Amino acid sequence: MKKEFKAESKKLLDLMINSIYTNKDIFLRELISNSSDAIDKLYYKSLTDKSLDIKRENFKIKITIDKEKRTLTITDNGIGMNKEELEENLGTIAKSGSSLFKEKMNEKKDINIIGQFGVGFYSAFMVSKEVKVESKAYNEESSYEWKSNGSEGYQINKSSKKDIGTTITLIIKDNTDKENYDEYLDDFKIKSIIKKYSDYITYPIVMDEEITEENKDKKQTETIINSMIPIWKKSKNELEEKDYQQFYHDKFFDYEDSLKTIHLSVEGKCSYTTLLYIPSHAPYDFYTKDYEKGLELYSNGVMIMENCKELLPDYLSFVKGLVDTSDLSLNISREMLQQDKNLSLIANNIEKKIRKELQNMIEDERETYEKFYKAFGMQLKFGIYNSYGAKKEDLQDLLLFYSSKEKKLVTLKEYKERMGESDKIYYVSGETTDKIDLLPQVEKFKEKNYELLYFTDYIDEFVMQMMPEYEGKKFVNITKENLDLDTEEEKKKLKEENETYEEMFNIMSNVIDDKVSEVRFTHRLKNHPVCLTTKGNITLEMEKVINQMPTDEKVKAEVVMEINSDHEISKKLKELYKNDKETLKKYTKILYAQARLIEGLTIDNPTELSNIVCDILSK
Ligand code: ADP
Ligand code: MG
Repeated sequence: MKKEFKAESKKLLDLMINSIYTNKDIFLRELISNSSDAIDKLYYKSLTDKSLDIKRENFKIKITIDKEKRTLTITDNGIGMNKEELEENLGTIAKSGSSLFKEKMNEKKDINIIGQFGVGFYSAFMVSKEVKVESKAYNEESSYEWKSNGSEGYQINKSSKKDIGTTITLIIKDNTDKENYDEYLDDFKIKSIIKKYSDYITYPIVMDEEITEENKDKKQTETIINSMIPIWKKSKNELEEKDYQQFYHDKFFDYEDSLKTIHLSVEGKCSYTTLLYIPSHAPYDFYTKDYEKGLELYSNGVMIMENCKELLPDYLSFVKGLVDTSDLSLNISREMLQQDKNLSLIANNIEKKIRKELQNMIEDERETYEKFYKAFGMQLKFGIYNSYGAKKEDLQDLLLFYSSKEKKLVTLKEYKERMGESDKIYYVSGETTDKIDLLPQVEKFKEKNYELLYFTDYIDEFVMQMMPEYEGKKFVNITKENLDLDTEEEKKKLKEENETYEEMFNIMSNVIDDKVSEVRFTHRLKNHPVCLTTKGNITLEMEKVINQMPTDEKVKAEVVMEINSDHEISKKLKELYKNDKETLKKYTKILYAQARLIEGLTIDNPTELSNIVCDILSK
């Protein structure tokens, strides 16, 4: 009986059949990698299931070409699939084709995107007019055959396959004007594809020697095509950066080179080898729930877990790579394995190593680090925030902030080296550095030649709550109250002035009662007439961020409207206070609206404001 593919699978299939993707060679990489995974799985099973009589040296993946029948066959003696698994695994879109891939596929905009995902089993349809999968699962009596030409659904029937494992037969497409498919029936071409993409596969990939005039009477012999040495088992000086990158592209589906490669072998109580990559950009699905952090976990070259998340802390979730160790107890359940002491030991070392590499990058390759930081700096900040500051010491020196003085990103260490006697690190937050530059509070600071850090990530101020100081220097938000820039004398003068006009400020704050808690004079401004500052923990930037979140929790910053006591407007206000209290109220509303606009906030009642302005203009 014929079955239809699910809608989303059908789309991927159409894409494959019409093979818009130009690098068709990779279909073989995908099929071989599936075979290798299947063998890994059976081998792993055999470690706990003693009834299985399996020897590692008997595992292999065999490739056969039949030019007459136009078939290319891939046979493995891995774990195999039963009827349900054939249906489930091959009838629907592959795991690796995440929902995001499906989305991207619908857009059909950028075909390169395919290269960023493991395209999986369906890639066989790029080169085949028909695909047949015969399989006998371990632990099963019967074997089954799955067959499809892609476009018209698939069929599953009983098969006569006797041995455990899977045989995939591709009936290669006929040549067209544009495409030469015959090459996939060519011994040399197939060998070179295997060499290129599957050399590191740890099981032998074998082919029969080609029958020629000379050897046609000899007994057929198999030759092993791949070197079987995974790249991470090779010694560093055997490898060039391009080898690492080639592996990275093929294995982790990134079309760009990684920013950093870390290849490390550790001998000790727990010995392991690790190959780690720091990508240059976030993958497409990084910010979706589909994304899973983790490293591949191998035991002596056998992959035992595809995504071992215990190996990476959340703030390093972008790191790609693998760990190979023989010091894990494998004859236990996965859950137990995930709690293995050695695993957390390796995880700790890896975390430290990556941090150290990043630190080195700051010192030696600043530009590269900035690129990294642009892509993943936010993750480091989350690391501090989500650990409630526990990771502060580990991560604080990896942070970068824009400096008003240097006009570029600087580290806290660099800021501290420049600050001399001062005991405060000044910062201000806003949407962009340009917008912050225009904030009234910033002007005076620049005049005093203080270095200011500009916080432009929405998370920055939240991070500061978990990180109130850096090496004994307190972080101070210059838009919060009690900014201590004045001399004692100036402070005294301001205090007196504010006391003298207490009654005036009462009138003013009553006008905007529900919005500000206080109105007062300030020395914090230079040329600007007015600004908003906050008391307490919640700043205006934080209010903006929290209230944009899709939760019911809304917060309100405790706002103070500060008026430049040196500005002409102060004189005017004092005068109105004496002679015309009604107009003073109108002025208050205008000043408050101005201050909000400067802060990048909206005004609640633009009509009222416009009427008041017109009113005053007409006088
Ligand atoms: P992925 O490998 O990312 O899971 P694929 O499309 O390559 O996606 O394969 C889909 C699934 O089909 C695999 O997860 C596996 O369960 C099954 N599969 C494919 N090839 C084989 C094979 N040779 N032996 C056993 N199972 C296989
Ligand atoms: Mg696969």
